[in-house]
Amino acid sequence: MTQLAPRPTVSDAPPAPTSATAGIDVAWLGEYLLGTWAEERKHSRELIKRPELHRIDGLGMAEQRERVLGQLGLLVDWGVVHRAFPKAVGGDDNHGGNIASFEELVLADASLQIKSGVQWGLFGSAVMHLGTEVHHKTLLPDIMSLKVPGAFAMTETGHGSDVSAVGTTATYDEAAGEFVIHTPFRAAWKDYLGNAALHGTAAVVFAQLITQGVNHGVHAFYVPIRDENGFLPGVGGEDDGIKGGLNGIDNGRLHFTHVRIPRTNLLNRYGDVDESGVYTSPIDSPGRRFFTMLGTLVQGRVSLDGSAVVASKLALTIAITYATQRRQFTAASDEEVVLLDYQRHQRRLLPRLAETYAMSFAHETFLGAFDGVFSGAHDTDDDRQDLETIAAALKPLSTWAALDILQEAREACGGAGFLAQNRLTQLRADLDIYTTFEGDNNVLLQLVAKRLLGDYAAKFKHADAATLARFVAGNVGSTALNRSGLRQLSQSIRDFGSTARSVGYVRDEASQRQLLTDRVQSMVAALAGRLRAASKLGPEAAADLFNANQNELLEAARAHAELLQWESFSAALEKMPSDTKTVMTWLRDLFGLGLIEKNLAWYLINGRLAPNRARAITDYIDDRLLPRLRPHALDLVNAFGFAPEHLRAEIASGAEQVRQDEAAAYYAELRASGAAPVDEKTLKARKKR
Ligand SMILES: Cc1cc2nc3c(=O)[nH]c(=O)nc-3n(C[C@H](O)[C@H](O)[C@H](O)COP(=O)(O)OP(=O)(O)OC[C@H]3O[C@@H](n4cnc5c(N)ncnc54)[C@H](O)[C@@H]3O)c2cc1C
Repeated sequence: MTQLAPRPTVSDAPPAPTSATAGIDVAWLGEYLLGTWAEERKHSRELIKRPELHRIDGLGMAEQRERVLGQLGLLVDWGVVHRAFPKAVGGDDNHGGNIASFEELVLADASLQIKSGVQWGLFGSAVMHLGTEVHHKTLLPDIMSLKVPGAFAMTETGHGSDVSAVGTTATYDEAAGEFVIHTPFRAAWKDYLGNAALHGTAAVVFAQLITQGVNHGVHAFYVPIRDENGFLPGVGGEDDGIKGGLNGIDNGRLHFTHVRIPRTNLLNRYGDVDESGVYTSPIDSPGRRFFTMLGTLVQGRVSLDGSAVVASKLALTIAITYATQRRQFTAASDEEVVLLDYQRHQRRLLPRLAETYAMSFAHETFLGAFDGVFSGAHDTDDDRQDLETIAAALKPLSTWAALDILQEAREACGGAGFLAQNRLTQLRADLDIYTTFEGDNNVLLQLVAKRLLGDYAAKFKHADAATLARFVAGNVGSTALNRSGLRQLSQSIRDFGSTARSVGYVRDEASQRQLLTDRVQSMVAALAGRLRAASKLGPEAAADLFNANQNELLEAARAHAELLQWESFSAALEKMPSDTKTVMTWLRDLFGLGLIEKNLAWYLINGRLAPNRARAITDYIDDRLLPRLRPHALDLVNAFGFAPEHLRAEIASGAEQVRQDEAAAYYAELRASGAAPVDEKTLKARKKR
């Protein structure tokens, strides 16, 4: 019988390859990261080099708003914001390319990005997706040219996350053939709307459609709100004033007092009212109808996910570049140590770099799915539902991660990180709200959890409680997982002789997949078991039961989203040339093992990992992965492909290296001259001898 050679322990493993033996093909990786819509991204990045688009720090709110409005005009002049619109009205029907180029705009100024998102991505998109041909022909040209700046008026002061409950009404008046838009109470004022405080002359208003005494739920209406003299009769509003970020956008409130609009201003793709007031819809269920309407607006979530990735790449490029030039403290030699050579600095920045790569690959998959649905290439009900679930899973993780990365990058750059000229603080302030608008992150993750439970319920439709219990306990043989593999991972370390040796079983791709997948499946199964009673309870008790499990639901959703990111990263490795793949596999391992390390408590409590093996994961990260990746850190951020005009941060310009070189040259010259003063400590040491 063939004897298997013993697995190497950490101490007898071959030395980590240096860049001489495994190096990244930076040009290849850079191109690969640009993805399917590389041309659109490059084009956008070329434009972003222009100073007219750059944020100017220290401008007052009024000046910022005017500057950003002017920048939107430039985007129109340069013909770069119409890609998603139908060819019939001068667009390009290019949905993926439109989002890809939009995402890059965060490099110029987040206010510019979001204001253009309001104009073309929300206001224009609502007309395009919720309206019909007549609206496209009559309304889109002026929206595209910015002749009509507009607001997307969905949120109200009283309702943001639950927009099905907005209070604004649109009541059909048969005699006049008009809808009457009305705000019945203060909490029903539309709020936070970009373009509402100053520039908007029209709005797509979401209101409860009432005809013949029946409320058919929320629909969208095109409502003129201003002319050159100010608000039109019956329309009023307020400025939201200074915000925590994005102050180049004029967010504001709107309210309506019996404002009349023609019947045909109803954006009627999913529901219509004829002259006599009869309501018809191609979708019978009011709930499904509303979610179908919202689903057409998913691009906001797609683009925020991608923008968070771009901002994270920028922050890490600044922090890692600086960390390879900045020196503090001398250790053994006379030379001061470069920040990134400190283990702690590596721990702070490299796992976040791995996460950013994971987010980037996941986003590329997501953008592909989005384009598939909106181009019509893959547009079934299932495709749309999958897209919405991916959106609800990835947007929260990436927007939260961007804030964490921006903050860590800021701290990693010390005092220099706090200067506006190095950009991190402003980006942190601007991206803050990305976690809330286009769907609050915690609310979105609940959608993911519900979908996971729904899929689970469908799979185990006929299972009894005992079957479910067995599934949770890990005894069902037909699951996608190799349970025996998992049992091995949870075995005591004694079986393998040493802690170091045991890590081999955890770090390979199959084990990472098993551990991450098992966590999602087990959490969902456990929740399904606990929520099973809900079907026999009244609505109130069922809601209470659901609420009592809400934290766990969100955790399961997050675990699912992390698995999506890890799978995207692993899939991306398949296409890489071998040397690049070696380094990128370490980075993927850092991401995967980092996720497991973060959730070690769960793995230990649930017996999925033995304690020593859990310890071995941390050791493997600190002793192996970080030192292996350290020499490639700069290549890994250089592959993001930012030019100096994109970075615009003094500390990432090479200025720190110039300062360090100058100081080193000064001391070298001083020593060589023989005129250098003797250090007191050296003098005393000499005297002792
Ligand atoms: C700068 C800015 C620009 C915006 N632009 C626009 C725009 O152009 N057009 C537009 O229509 N809207 C816009 N919005 C509104 C934005 O979409 C909403 O703020 C967002 O949807 C959240 O709604 P809310 O503020 O009412 O928060 P709420 O819904 O009140 O949520 C508050 C908190 O409660 C939590 N929460 C809510 N429900 C639950 C639940 N079921 N379970 C657990 N926790 C829950 C949330 O997680 C959140 O942390 C903008 C907002 C801002 C700040």
